[in-house]
This record gives sequence, C-alpha cells and structure tokens, in this order.
Amino acid sequence: MADGFESESRKLLGRLRDTMAEEAAGQARLDKITHLTADSMGTEVCSIYLFRDDETLELCATEGLNPDAVHQTRMRLGEGLVGRVARFGKIVNTADAPQAKGFRYMPETGEEIYSSFLGVPIQRLGEKLGVLVVQSKEAREFTPDEIYALEVVAMVLAEMTELGVFVGEGAALTARHTQPALLRGTTGQEGTAEGHVWLHEPRVVVTNLVADDPERERERLTEAVEALRISVDELLADASGDSEQAQVLQAYRMFANSKGWMRRMEEDISRGLSAEAAVEKEQSQARARMNQVTDAYLRERLQDLDDLSNRLLRNLTGQGRETGADMPDDPILIARNIGPGELLDYGRKLRGIVLEEGSVGSHAAIVARALAIPLVIHAGRITNEALNGDHIMVDGDQGVVHLRPDDTVVSAFREKIAMQAKALERYASIRDTPCVAACGTRVELHMNAGLMADLPSLTSSGAEGVGLFRTELQFLVRNQMPRRTELAALYARVLDAALGRRVVFRTLDIGSDKVLPYMKPNDEPNPALGWRAIRVGLDKPGVLRMQLQALLRAADGRPLSVMFPFVAQFEEFRKARAEMEKALEREKILGHAIPETLEVGAMLETPSLAFAPQQFFEEVQFLSIGGNDLKQFFFAADRENERVRRRYDTLNVSFLTFLEGIVDRCRDTGTRLSFCGEDAGRPIEAICLAAIGLHSLSMRPASIGPVKHLLMRVKLGEVRAVIDEARDQGHQSVRGPVMNFLRDKI
Ligand code: PEP
Ligand code: MG
Repeated sequence: MADGFESESRKLLGRLRDTMAEEAAGQARLDKITHLTADSMGTEVCSIYLFRDDETLELCATEGLNPDAVHQTRMRLGEGLVGRVARFGKIVNTADAPQAKGFRYMPETGEEIYSSFLGVPIQRLGEKLGVLVVQSKEAREFTPDEIYALEVVAMVLAEMTELGVFVGEGAALTARHTQPALLRGTTGQEGTAEGHVWLHEPRVVVTNLVADDPERERERLTEAVEALRISVDELLADASGDSEQAQVLQAYRMFANSKGWMRRMEEDISRGLSAEAAVEKEQSQARARMNQVTDAYLRERLQDLDDLSNRLLRNLTGQGRETGADMPDDPILIARNIGPGELLDYGRKLRGIVLEEGSVGSHAAIVARALAIPLVIHAGRITNEALNGDHIMVDGDQGVVHLRPDDTVVSAFREKIAMQAKALERYASIRDTPCVAACGTRVELHMNAGLMADLPSLTSSGAEGVGLFRTELQFLVRNQMPRRTELAALYARVLDAALGRRVVFRTLDIGSDKVLPYMKPNDEPNPALGWRAIRVGLDKPGVLRMQLQALLRAADGRPLSVMFPFVAQFEEFRKARAEMEKALEREKILGHAIPETLEVGAMLETPSLAFAPQQFFEEVQFLSIGGNDLKQFFFAADRENERVRRRYDTLNVSFLTFLEGIVDRCRDTGTRLSFCGEDAGRPIEAICLAAIGLHSLSMRPASIGPVKHLLMRVKLGEVRAVIDEARDQGHQSVRGPVMNFLRDKI
C-alpha cells in the first residue's frame, strides 16, 4: 500500500512539475495546481491561501469552492481554521470542520457542505507564506499518507513562490523580495548607513524539486551525506584542541549519522522529491521548530542542523559561497550571526551590519563597535527577506532596518544622514582644538580602542591619547592563544601609531561575557560576578606574566601605562603590581630596555574599591572608572540584560553622589582619575561627569566630536549648580533639570 501511495505521490509531483514547465500566468498555474491536487487526492476541494500582508490571508485559487470568492475571501491570521493553520504553522485535520474549534463560516465560498478539512502550512525556511487546504463532503480524517502528500505539495508551492512562479495581480501574488520591508531589531552599534545588501551566506536556491528516478536521487543524497561526514571528521581531527568548535562539529556528526534524519529524506525522495528538495524540506521544518523553541541549547542544536543542511544543499546543487556576485561598493553585511574573525576579515569596507541573531555583548558586536560600523542585531527575518544587491538603510541609533525602502523613507533617511554629516563637519572644525569648557576648565578627551584598526581614529577624532586599550580583543578574535612575540609586536605597533600620545593598556579582561574560544568555558551561575579579569590573572598568572612581558618589550624604552581590570580590593592590586615588578626585574636581568616611565593603575569597576584604604589611593598611580561595570554593580542591574540595562539612569543622583565620593578621595591623595565607560561618550552624561570633577574622559572615537562640542559651550560651575539643586530638591535623576538648563542656556 505504501508503494502504491508513493507512486501516486510521484505521479502528482510529476504533474506539478509539468505544470510549472508550461508557459502560463501565475494565476493559471495556481488554478492548475488546485485542480491536480484535488484530483489526485480524491477530494472535492483544494484551495490555496496566500498572505497578502503579514496579518491577512487571501484565497488565491480553488477547485471546488465558489470561483467568485477567489481574491475576495480574506481572513486574518488566527481567524477560522485556515487562519489557525497559518498562525501556529501546524496541520489541522478534522472530519467535522463546522464543529471544529475556531471554524468560521464563509458564506461566499459555499464551504458549509464540506465536512472534512485538512490544512497544511505553506512555509519556506521557517517563513510563513500561506495555507494549502483540501476538503471533502465525506466525514473522515485524512490518513498520515495523505497528510504527507499534501505537505510535499505545500513545500513545492513554497519553493515555487520563492522562485516567482505565481506572480500575478494583487498584493497576495506580488513577487517576493520586491516590496519595501521594515525590520525592527536592537541597536548593536549606533550610526546610520545606506548601501546595498551583501549576504554573508548566499541562499541556495533549489530549482529542481521533483525527480523521476528515486534510486538516482537516493544515491546522490547518500554520496553527499558521505562526503559531508568525511569533511566533518577531518575538521574534527583538526579541531581537537578547540573545544567549542569541536562541540559544534560533534553535533554536525551526530546529525550526519542520524538515521531518523536520513530516513525522512529518503522517504521524501521515494515520494518524488529531488535529493536537494528533500534536504530543504527537512531544513524548513527544523527552521519552523527553531522559531518556536526558546530553550537556548535546543535552539543551538537546531541551528547546527540548519548549518548542516546548508552545507548539504551547497554540495548537492553545486552552489558555493562564491556565487560570482560582486560585492557592492557600499556593502551592508547581512548574516544570521557572524564570528569576530570573519567580521575583521571584511574590515572597514562594510558600511553597516545587520544580524538576525547576536547580542549586544557578543564578540562580533565588540568588533563592530571597535570598527565604528553601525550594527543592528535581532533583525527578524532579514536573511530570508534580503537579496544580494537590495537597497538597504540601517538605522543603528533606532535599531531599525529599511529594506528596499520607498522614496519617502529614502528622503527622510538621507536627511538624517545629511544632518549627521553637517554635525561631523562642525566637529571636524574643532578637532585639533584642546577641549576647554566655557568656564576655562580643561577636560582631557581620550579614546577607547582594542584593535590596530582603531588607531587611525586617534588622528581623525582628535583624541589626546588612548584612555583604554582593551587587550582582550586580540585574544578573542583568534583561534588560539597569541604568542608573546606576536603580542609584543602588536603593542609596539600601537605605540608607534600613537606617536608619543599616552596609551593605557588594560591587561586581559576575560570571563563574564568575554569567553576565549580556545579556553575551557567555566560553567558559572553568575559569570559577571565570577572568575574573570584580574581574578583569572592572579589565580593562573601564566598569561598575565606573558602579557606584561610583551608590554615591556613593546615599550622598548618608551613610556608605558598599564592598568588591571576589575580590581575589587587593595590586595589584588598589590599582587598584580608585584607581577609587574617581577617582570620588570626580569627584563633588566635579560638586558632589555625598560620603559622610560612606567605607570601602573587600576580600573575601578566594583563599588568596593571606592572604599579601599587610604593607602590604596596613595599607591595606585592612576585610576580609571569602568562605568559600564561599576554601574551594573551599583544598581545590581545586568548590563547585558535588555530588560534591566537601561532601567537606571547614569545621571541618577545616587550614582553621581557615589562618583563624587571617588573624585574627592582621588583629589585628597592626588591620584590621577579618569572615566572610560560608554557613558563618557554621551554628551549630556559627559558634561555632568566633568561638572562633578571628572576631567579626563575616554570614549569611542566617534563620540569625541559631539562631547567636545557641548563641553566647550558650557560653564561647568553652572552645570554643577543645576546638579546640586536637583539633588537638594529630591530629584531621582538630574537629567531633566540639566536638559532644561541646556535648552535655556544654549
Ligand atoms: C567598563 O566596565 O566600563 C569598561 C570600560 O570595561 P568593559 O566595558 O570592557 O567591561
Ligand atoms: Mg569593565
């Protein structure tokens, strides 16, 4: 019986393929498909409903229902049985449709006479396109074989829709990937960009869906899977030392050897699909599941399966990453996710980046920030929607992406870019002017950096030096621990590029969100409060010592400034400084040049350090407030957690009062103090920080212009008076009063 069914199924698919091969308009093709399907399945009705917009389905073709209802009958997502199939992406199979939950009677279609109903979603790679329905008068449930057959037809329909076979009149039959789309995501890096789409992983398009010779297709599939297994095994052998990569590859191997996966694809082939269509059908179902799964581990596994399917599809269709397309001059990179190394390979040629996944603290986001490339993350279905070469506008400030924007959006967006460009011109004109507030107070503005690629910004931004050089980026973007000589060469190049300006190197700050790909991850319940930064450096001093040596060698007699991250108590600083002293002694013994001057400082990132003994403030040569961490610990609000990370204002009176306490202690001991968290780069925050006595700020290079522009127009004493008054009046945050003051005064 199964054999009989398989040949029926193959026959239907063969007829579908012939229909596609005929020259016909989109509507005629859809009509033919409903006719063929109803005929082959022995049902009185077959109907195709497609989305005309995100919320509305439209009856686009029918065999058996009233033909006048075509393009007239519409339903909202979730409405009626068809809407239910669409909303949940799940099959509805009932012998008594009028009694089924959610049934909605559509008089114009004349459907009340039909009792049985089978609806399957039409979806491609997790994206919902419509619903395919068969109905019959006889009250019966459809068999698993029949359901399966209808699913295969739905899959073919989805592919054909993607290929633009059904294009016709009306919104439901418009060609895909031609309409403007607005995608909302989250800001990964601020800034705006206009350009054209460059897909990191070009989509594989399956054009031959149906095959006559199942034996041959099975062979093709087996060969492709075998080749894949071998390549995964080879990769695994290479990745033996690299635990994270090895884990992913193990998962690949598990899928490549999975009998269930293989069996389902072979069944699809028996029923008439080509090998690649069978792979894509599995992939589509995995994607649909992925959209519903919230468990992080399971999502990752489904993603592994998705990646594996992509590899197989490339193998079977011969479509590689190299599609022959030329990268546009103004590329906006689109990817589901991307590693920091791959992103660095693209480098500064990218105008913008849009990711379907990612997180604010991901390594890719860190690199995008370092390269100052606008980045939007969590941008819904962008990899399904965008085609290479599409016009695209990325608003990193708002976390919004306009794909194929219409004229009004284009002109509004360009206006915004033009205004930003004007502001940039203004900033350029003051670039080489030292930052002196209107009251005459000098405020030093430095930049944060972490990559060689950042260094040209020293000149273009007018920064006075590098207030924070995050050394971990060099460790994060590699596949293995860098060697001392490599690091020394790199740090030397940083110092060369700084042309004598001060560079403050921060020793390795790993742990928490920054996990090195080649180090065993620690399963910690609260990584932000865990074994990180200087704690790792002191417990396992090998890397710290190697890094300190590299820094001393790089200085090669020049002045050197080094600070330790995340120091929570005096003792930690003393121990870390002792490591530096030992390294210095060793260099002397080896006869190497030692720095002309050596400053050793600490980052103040935990509230505890603000209350350290007087001796600490006397001994430490400089302090830099890491506002990002300090704020998260002050308010007990995770900086990575979207729900809480913006909940508390930096200009909250309690936080400012706390910062003032640190300023006072440093003033008493004459300790050099600066602030290098993200808030230093926000103009309003920056003037308030300066007003309470923080006269050295370090920020992203792009922020220096706007911060300087505002600082030069305010008298810090006046801002201070506004802050004090707001505090006296019991305000929670000084933001409102300071904004009012700026509005009135400037
Ligand atoms: C900070 O915590 O403010 C800081 C500058 O360090 P990072 O953002 O690298 O943790
Ligand atoms: Mg920090």
